[in-house]
Amino acid sequence: MAIPDSIRALMRPELAELEPYDGSLASCDVMLAANENNFGLPMSLADELSRALAEVELNRYPDPLSNGLRDLLAAELGLSRDNICVGNGGDELIYNLLLAFGGAGRKVVDLPPSFAVYGLYARMLGCEVVEVPRAAEDFEADVDAVVVAASSADVVLLTSPNNPSGNLLAREDVARICEATRGVVLVDEAYIDFAPAGSSCIDLIERFERLVVLRTFSKAYALAGARCGYVISSPGVIDAFAAVRQPYSVNRLTQAAAELVVRHREDFAPFIDMTISERARMADALADIEGVRVFPGWGNFLLVRVGPATEVRARLLGEHSILVRDVSGAPGCAGCLRISVGKPTENDMLVAALRQILEEER
Ligand code: PMP
Repeated sequence: MAIPDSIRALMRPELAELEPYDGSLASCDVMLAANENNFGLPMSLADELSRALAEVELNRYPDPLSNGLRDLLAAELGLSRDNICVGNGGDELIYNLLLAFGGAGRKVVDLPPSFAVYGLYARMLGCEVVEVPRAAEDFEADVDAVVVAASSADVVLLTSPNNPSGNLLAREDVARICEATRGVVLVDEAYIDFAPAGSSCIDLIERFERLVVLRTFSKAYALAGARCGYVISSPGVIDAFAAVRQPYSVNRLTQAAAELVVRHREDFAPFIDMTISERARMADALADIEGVRVFPGWGNFLLVRVGPATEVRARLLGEHSILVRDVSGAPGCAGCLRISVGKPTENDMLVAALRQILEEER
C-alpha cells in the first residue's frame, strides 16, 4: 500500500508524509502483537451474546450517545451518565480529545515512548507536540519536566500502564500534573485491569474538572473487534466530546455487546488473574534467556530488549508463526519487542522459540 504521488499532491500538504496504517498484523498461529484478550469472551456469555445480537434492530440508527451503556457504566462507577462519553474504541476518543482541545498551533504534551496514535493524531490535527521523554533506564516518567511542560500546554497525554513500557503513573503525580496545567489531562487506562487495585485515577475526576480517564473494552474485556471505549470526566468536558464526535460511530451491535460485558464483568476475573500470573511467569522465563532484558510492566504485555529486534520478530513469524510487535523504532526502545501475554501454551511457545532464535543468533 502506498499513496501515488499524483494523489499525494492533492492531499493537505501537512499530511503529505502519512502512509496507510496496516498494523503489521500478518496472519499467524500465535497472536501476541496487539495486546488483545487471547481467550475471547467467556463461554458463559456466548448464548446471551448471540441472543442479544440477534435482537438488535439493524434497520434503525444507534443511540448516538449509547445511553444504555452509559447508564450501566455510571452505575458501576458510582457516577452519572453525564460523566461518560462512549466511542468507537479508545482510538476515536483520543482523536476526539485532540480535535476538541488540541488543533492547529496548540500544545500537546506526550511522554515517549507512548502509544503511537497520540503523536500521529496530534500531528494530523496540526498540534505542536512537546515531548518529555521517559528515562532511558526504566521508562519512568520525568514528572518534574512534565509539570513544567504542562504549565503551558493545552493537552497532556498520560498513559498508565504505559504502552509499550508498562510503567504505572503514581496518582500523586497525576494530581501534581493536573494542578500544573490549565489544559486538559488525559490518563489513558486501557490496561488498568492488569495493574494493582488502587492504581486508577478515576476518582480524581471529582477533584480535577479537566481530567479525562480513558478505558477500553479491547483489552481485558475481549471486544477489540467490536470497537468500544469510553472516557470519564466532568460533565462539561464530556459535552465537548459529545459535540465533536461522529454521532453514529458506535453501532448497535457494539453497544449491545458492551452492555452485556458490563453486566458480567465478574466473568472476566479468571482471565485477568491468569494474565497477571502468566505475565510474571513469562517475565521470569524470558529473563532467564541470555541476552534478554525484561522491563517490569503492569499491562497484558512485556517490553523485552532482545538485540536484533526486527530480525527476531521476522524469524518468530516466519519459523514459528508467532507474531509480536517490533517497537525498536520507538524512542528509547532500540532492540526491543513488545510481547503480549497470551494463553499459557502460547507463552511457552514464545519463550521456547525466542530462546532458540537468540541461541542461534549468538
Ligand atoms: N490506549 C492505549 C495505551 C492502547 O494501547 C490502545 C490500543 N492499542 C488504545 C488506547 C486504544 O484501544 P482501542 O481503540 O482498541 O479501544
